[in-house]
Amino acid sequence: MTRPFDKPIYVTRPYLPDLKAYQDGIAEIWENQWLTNNGPIHQRYTRNLEAFFGTGNLCLYTNGTLALQVALQGMGIKGEVITTPFTFVATAHCLRWNGITPVFADIDPETYTLDPAAVEAAITPRTTAILAVHVFGNPCRLDALQRIADKHRLALIYDAAHAFGVEVGGKSIGAFGDCSMFSLHATKLYHAIEGGILVFRDPGLKLTFRHLMNFGFQGETDVVMVGTNAKMTEMQALMGDLILPDLPTIIAKRKILTAAYVECLNDIPGIGIHALTTPLRQQEYTPNFAYVPVEIRAEYPLTRDGLYAKLKTDYNVYARRYFYPLVTDFECYRGKVLAGDLTVAKRVADRILTLPIYHGLDVDDVRRICEMIKECVQCG
Ligand SMILES: *Cc1c(COP(=O)(O)O)cnc(C)c1O
Repeated sequence: MTRPFDKPIYVTRPYLPDLKAYQDGIAEIWENQWLTNNGPIHQRYTRNLEAFFGTGNLCLYTNGTLALQVALQGMGIKGEVITTPFTFVATAHCLRWNGITPVFADIDPETYTLDPAAVEAAITPRTTAILAVHVFGNPCRLDALQRIADKHRLALIYDAAHAFGVEVGGKSIGAFGDCSMFSLHATKLYHAIEGGILVFRDPGLKLTFRHLMNFGFQGETDVVMVGTNAKMTEMQALMGDLILPDLPTIIAKRKILTAAYVECLNDIPGIGIHALTTPLRQQEYTPNFAYVPVEIRAEYPLTRDGLYAKLKTDYNVYARRYFYPLVTDFECYRGKVLAGDLTVAKRVADRILTLPIYHGLDVDDVRRICEMIKECVQCG
């Protein structure tokens, strides 16, 4: 049997910048005596992100969830919004926190993103927007969704929490739709400890998006809207700003790890790796290799849950079932939501397992994890 790892291998570990550089930044914060509310490092980070995204229509938040809540609130989205059940639960929560009814539509089996035909079938007179998710960094069917949004006069909002660094046709993925939210949570491939970014098309939204993050304050004494508190701190901005130049290195390493997974998992019956090979073969877009989702199919001797448990207990490898259960199966949504036929989403959620990937992982670790998956063929 392949030797189990001495220390647990988690699905991800945060990328940490040079400690001395972060300490120098902290010293700068001590000098500035400015911790939050658009401090000097926040301003510098904003400028660097504006250059990165190629737009000034950008706001920073303390996390991605609040960023998305602010986006929906600031754009005046109401009624029903069509979204995917195959996502992190925050996507749907943001709708509900705004008093919006989520309507769940099925996904496409190749990219795991919203199926445009299912979206169109879910439109009612109450529909005001589409909230699509670039799951695992896979771009949604951008053109098809935009055509549907235009035809039915719907807003098109992207939960791009997984998609930092992804480019389509030489443009940032944030350039598509009306608004995109990026999460900078520590578990994402690029992070600011916690954090969120909104990138949007209409410059007229900027003031609203800024007011909403700071209780609705405009100046010192005027509160012009019912805002929340969603401001990014200097410590977060410092982390994000220090890691930003390392993004190409981070993505390059992840590409190498993904290729190693493909090479070693390729010949195992019942292990579906199309979600890894597609980004590697990609010409039309620049992937970020944010996750390693594989499908555990019937030909594999263990079920997905069986393999998940075996890796954990016998080998010290903590894979994750992203995304399982479907959002529509969580207690707070089950039986209480509008949903179309979710056949594909249900099948994918029952089969999916995301394997470890992070900057500090080595190709040898990947090979060892694959050996473990191979060995489990005998243990069914
Ligand atoms: C992480 C994540 C979020 C939430 O982002 P936070 O920054 O953690 O609030 C939303 N949607 C998806 C798909 C995510 O993976």
